[in-house]
Amino acid sequence: MDVNARNKQVKEILSKHYGKGNVSVKGGRGTAYGWCEVYITIQRPKACICEPEGFYCQVCKDAVNGISSEAESLLSGVEFYHYGDNSPELLIQVSIK
Ligand SMILES: [Zn+2]
Repeated sequence: MDVNARNKQVKEILSKHYGKGNVSVKGGRGTAYGWCEVYITIQRPKACICEPEGFYCQVCKDAVNGISSEAESLLSGVEFYHYGDNSPELLIQVSIK
């Protein structure tokens, strides 16, 4: 498998969906080689009630989890290695603007 080509494919799929500037894809290095690290930034939900310095409120947590599983299914056609168990070497991090 060509990891760079795969990461490019991942970036293309997600950029189409979330907008180019909101998606960043990095290939893991060293012992994390083969891993695909995905960073997605989303708009703050309108119903957000986060405290200024606090953790994400439930609305934001739900948004982050929703996007994370959505991104995972968008990538279901992409080929990943599977180390040991059945989970793909894919790390998705969603943050709110
Ligand atoms: Zn919030």
